[in-house]
Amino acid sequence: MENKGFKPSNLWHTLSVDELLKEVQTDRDRGLSAVEVEKRQAHFGENSIEQKAGKPKFLRFLEQFNQPLLYILILAGVIKATLGQWINAWVIWGVVWINATVGFIQEMKAESAIAALSSSLETNATICRDGQKIQIPSSQIVPGDLVFLTSGDKVPADLRLIQTKNLQINESGLTGESTAVEKQTNPVRPDTPLAERRNMAYAGSFITSGRATGIVVAIGQDTETGRISQLMQKQPNLTTPLTRKFDRFSRQLLYIILGIAGLTFAVGLGYEANWPSMLEATVALAVSAIPEGLPAVVTIALAIGVGRMARRHAIIRKLPAVETLGSATTICSDKTGTLTENQMTVQGVYAGGRHYTVSGTGYTPEGEVYCDGVAIDLERTPVLKNCAIAGLLCNDSHLERREGTYKPIGDPTEIAPIVLAVKLGLDPVALERQWPRLDAIPFESEHQYMATLHRRPDGESPIVYVKGSAEAVLSRCEWAFNVDNQLELLKSDKIHAIVDEFADRGLRVLAFAQKTLDSDSLEEEAVAGGLQLLGLQATIDPPREDAIRAIAACKEAGIRVKMITGDHPLTARAIATQMRLKRDGAIVTFTGRQLAGMNPVELAKAAVEGVVFARVAPEQKLQLVEALQAQGEVVAMTGDGVNDAPALKQADIGVAMGKTGTEVAKEAADIVLTDDNFASIEAAVEEGRTVYRNLIKAISFILPVNGGESMTILLSVLLGQTDRLPILSLQVLWLNMINSIAMTVPLAFEAKSAWVMQNPPIHADRSLLNRSLLQRIGLISISNWIVIFGMFEAIDRATGNIALARTMAIQALIAGRIFYLISLSQWSTSLWDRWSGKSVRIEPAPILWVGIGVTVVLQLLFSQLPIFNLLFATYPLTPNQWLICFAVGLPTIAIAAIANRLDPQDNNA
Ligand code: ADP
Ligand code: MG
Repeated sequence: MENKGFKPSNLWHTLSVDELLKEVQTDRDRGLSAVEVEKRQAHFGENSIEQKAGKPKFLRFLEQFNQPLLYILILAGVIKATLGQWINAWVIWGVVWINATVGFIQEMKAESAIAALSSSLETNATICRDGQKIQIPSSQIVPGDLVFLTSGDKVPADLRLIQTKNLQINESGLTGESTAVEKQTNPVRPDTPLAERRNMAYAGSFITSGRATGIVVAIGQDTETGRISQLMQKQPNLTTPLTRKFDRFSRQLLYIILGIAGLTFAVGLGYEANWPSMLEATVALAVSAIPEGLPAVVTIALAIGVGRMARRHAIIRKLPAVETLGSATTICSDKTGTLTENQMTVQGVYAGGRHYTVSGTGYTPEGEVYCDGVAIDLERTPVLKNCAIAGLLCNDSHLERREGTYKPIGDPTEIAPIVLAVKLGLDPVALERQWPRLDAIPFESEHQYMATLHRRPDGESPIVYVKGSAEAVLSRCEWAFNVDNQLELLKSDKIHAIVDEFADRGLRVLAFAQKTLDSDSLEEEAVAGGLQLLGLQATIDPPREDAIRAIAACKEAGIRVKMITGDHPLTARAIATQMRLKRDGAIVTFTGRQLAGMNPVELAKAAVEGVVFARVAPEQKLQLVEALQAQGEVVAMTGDGVNDAPALKQADIGVAMGKTGTEVAKEAADIVLTDDNFASIEAAVEEGRTVYRNLIKAISFILPVNGGESMTILLSVLLGQTDRLPILSLQVLWLNMINSIAMTVPLAFEAKSAWVMQNPPIHADRSLLNRSLLQRIGLISISNWIVIFGMFEAIDRATGNIALARTMAIQALIAGRIFYLISLSQWSTSLWDRWSGKSVRIEPAPILWVGIGVTVVLQLLFSQLPIFNLLFATYPLTPNQWLICFAVGLPTIAIAAIANRLDPQDNNA
């Protein structure tokens, strides 16, 4: 492998920071220049790892044959071959081959579709070039780039760390060690093993806490991960609850088939039938009982579901989620950004004992600040000014101005104070230059605050600014500024009462404080107490309109929605009220602290009854998921932070935020929302339910044909007519494969129905063939059986032409099948609605008619084309005979109508 690193490619850990910077020719403060980046990009190429294939393809193809039902078919072919019926044998083996190939292709397609979707979720990296902090796709990184890492990030390339702060990295992907390792920047000995190189961060590992700056020393294939990328290839799991049910079903079917085949044999012996006809009957029976076309239809339906969800902003990372979504009973959602717009604007400020109101909405910093209805003069309100400066400096986000429009970069919670400061006439760039940042404690959900340390313009001791939740900041404050900008003792109760007032109006409150510090670095202990309160800023974050609609839809669908947030209980409850999350007339609210004091029984009760969970620490999400699951709920849980990963993994459906989520959260999730919107979860549930409904329809369409065929053959055997079967094994295969697939695929394409969210969730452990479905399948099977058997007997008696009798029996069966298909499809529902005067709300998919058209053409060929006559032992029909077949198929309409009645089609509409 060509070495694309610089020089001593594996001795980076031995260099001092200065040696390193010289080696890679990077400026420690400004990063690389644009010119240099271009050169290096040309030389080193993209930062991406080629995925090497896991198992060899042919092995995976062979695995496709490892299915009980295919064994039977292979055996059936062997029997045919021993009888010298080679055409029959080859067709049967051909079907086996096609089945395996379809399975293989579908599996590959599903895998690459899911892989493509996941990789469309591009990872970004924050780097410094030309002195500018920018975000770029990780693929654009070059060796020598200066990269910033914070908790939740995925390391984009191999880095030598030059600065760290409480940095912990999880390198389990590389070293197998699952606990996070602490990092530092000093050189280590040359022979230090990979796992102990404390000054390196390797591509693909995750920052679990802290921050760091590093220099890229290897990208793409040259990274440690790239070198072992074979190990990285994880085959996505393609089994879903439904496919597992199918496996169980086919194993049961296997025993049934073996039993009946044995019976056939025994009965045949009793009648002293000849061997060949007995074997033909046994083979025909086995073949007829197997739904050969079903696996293909299942994978197609799942693939369609994945595509539809992606179009509705839900990217499936793990296939089983497609189905699990359909059975979700509880959705636990974040508040900020998911249920709300995340378009925050400061509306009220409390500083120095005074209330201020702020006009203007959105991120455009145009608006006025008033006190008692009078526009203020900033120079005469020093506490307000300091509070605004704190909001500006104690901040990791930016408001970028480009051609007159403003673009927020970073966390909306942080953009709001910046917008306020600019409205007040402060200049962010100038202030950041005057008050350079010396150190910082980044925001973490658990601690609910962040702090920054700044050098003062006048050279006196540095100042710390703290911003965070009211509780977190007030508990650290001792002093507060009064109207005259003088410090007095903090009246905590009074401030809390003001916070509650804001929160009651649904406003999100941030508190700001300061403290002088005699140090150039900042530790958590330094801000543990003695802070001076500057003020409160209250931001509005309106509910998303479409999320309100989605919540209503969920309610109707029997899905409970719970809000889990780190925000203040009153704010959370006010927003929940606006979003109509009320249940049984109340919004039962629990706080993280209350949950922490509960025993398991109380917790389980709270988890079920609670609607809002506020000031919740990320670890508590895991407890809530577990408590809900213990009560049989199927839980979807959202998350975005590093610490949400365990809950996302534990949930039945882990939902990560595509825009604001950390890489750790995305990696742990089953689905990723590209728009961070609650409405997309609801959309995914709709599609999940639709997939399930379409699969049930496919099953209720396919299985009755197997039923009809098997009953026909079984009856012939019992009557001792093995030499005069109404349907031959090859004809059975034609019906089960070609015909079934052509007719069932359109069902998989059906869109969601207007009623999809008006039924309760589908029970996750409901058996595939529940009673009403079995009754339906039984009824249609009998009807099919009568058609095949009756038609065959009638024609054979009348004409003595057994080939003609068999052909007409099949064509009549298919005529009936067409009517049954229409009755199952949305066409019949929409027709019925139009008739009964309901407003028609579904637009049935025209592909149904394509399926029917293809079927008609295929059936014409099947009986009219000489080669087909030869292959399938069919006989050309006259127009009159066609009419008879059609007429015999007609009564199926009535039977299908009874079946529709019999089985209320809970999800069939
Ligand atoms: P949410 O569920 O609303 O996203 P978070 O866990 O992100 O809650 O935040 C919890 C609390 O921490 C917020 O209510 C707010 O008071 C405070 N907070 C949020 N973001 C920041 C930030 N960037 N800096 C300081 N404090 C913050
Ligand atoms: Mg948040």
